[in-house]
Amino acid sequence: MARVYNFSAGPSMLPESVLSKAAAEMMDYQGSGQSVMEMSHRSKVYQGIFDETEALLREVMEIPDNYKVLFLQGGASSQFAMIPMNLMNGSGKADYVVTGQFAKKAYKEAARYGEVKVVASSEDKTFSYIPKLDPATFTPDADYFYICMNNTIFGTVYHDLPETGDVPLVADASSCILSRPIDVSKFGILYAGAQKNMAPAGVTVVIIREDLIGKTMDKTPTMFDYAAHAEAGSMYNTPPCWSIYMMKLVLEWIKNDVGGLDKMLERNEKKAALLYDFLDNSKLFKSPVAKEDRSLMNVPFVTGDADLDAKFVKEAAAAGFVNIKGHRSVGGMRASIYNAMPYEGVEKLVAFMAQFEKENG
Ligand SMILES: *Cc1c(COP(=O)(O)O)cnc(C)c1O
Repeated sequence: MARVYNFSAGPSMLPESVLSKAAAEMMDYQGSGQSVMEMSHRSKVYQGIFDETEALLREVMEIPDNYKVLFLQGGASSQFAMIPMNLMNGSGKADYVVTGQFAKKAYKEAARYGEVKVVASSEDKTFSYIPKLDPATFTPDADYFYICMNNTIFGTVYHDLPETGDVPLVADASSCILSRPIDVSKFGILYAGAQKNMAPAGVTVVIIREDLIGKTMDKTPTMFDYAAHAEAGSMYNTPPCWSIYMMKLVLEWIKNDVGGLDKMLERNEKKAALLYDFLDNSKLFKSPVAKEDRSLMNVPFVTGDADLDAKFVKEAAAAGFVNIKGHRSVGGMRASIYNAMPYEGVEKLVAFMAQFEKENG
């Protein structure tokens, strides 16, 4: 078996032990005589899997009791509309910080439903930093304040959260959820598509403070109403059963093999430091991201020469380091080093980069 090191921004690597367990349970899940893919979502055995997944997520993330956890479909992108449709029903205003392509898409979508203000943006420098925020510029009666916590394409992350007072903070955590402890109580909504750090694509987790449920705009489609999903225990319709089951296995891996999110953070810091230290000392490669805002999950880097970048991407793929081409809006390379990327994957990548630098520097 020849497995590559997959640096994709998403869908991304899953822990090998998770894949093995899923394979072992594929034909006959724990004596049920069926695969989890084939089960009724209303069956007792599936409800058991579902309940355990939620309980594990609550335990691993220390989610307070006054938050509901919803397992939805439609990807993180559906939340761009679902959030305004559900929350923008007081003053009809919301604040957005535009730190990348996903934040911008979310802002544009919200602008269709109410009065939306961009309180800050880092587009002037290709989203290579997190703008400093001045609470005096925030809308005091906004229905919510929106950020994208980790900017997958550009490799930036918020190290400090905005102080929004009584205005609920809403965050897209698609590419950083489960990478470190996050204080859920600071948020009105914290949400994430699964395919970066949680599970295969198909499920989107929405962690929402209970008092924010049930304020939906008139004529919101039922499938876009948090209340409909909360009341039905995320079974208003068929949930993405298989992805939820895979999330259970990933959470068991984090809890039992890694030792929880504090340990996960330690691993991720060690892994990212290896790559950033190399980049900061390299004469060929460099990181375009402001040092104080660097992501632990997505690491863009460039040589400054598009042809050399292309040569690197090609030779890296041939050597078993795949999906390392940067997003078209940034160019160069990007190594996404999510939870499941082992330390040795980054170690080998850095050795490969050092060799490339020697031959091409
Ligand atoms: C990947 C990603 C998205 C888009 O997710 P989909 O599930 O494809 O809709 C949104 N936000 C962030 C931060 C992402 O990394």
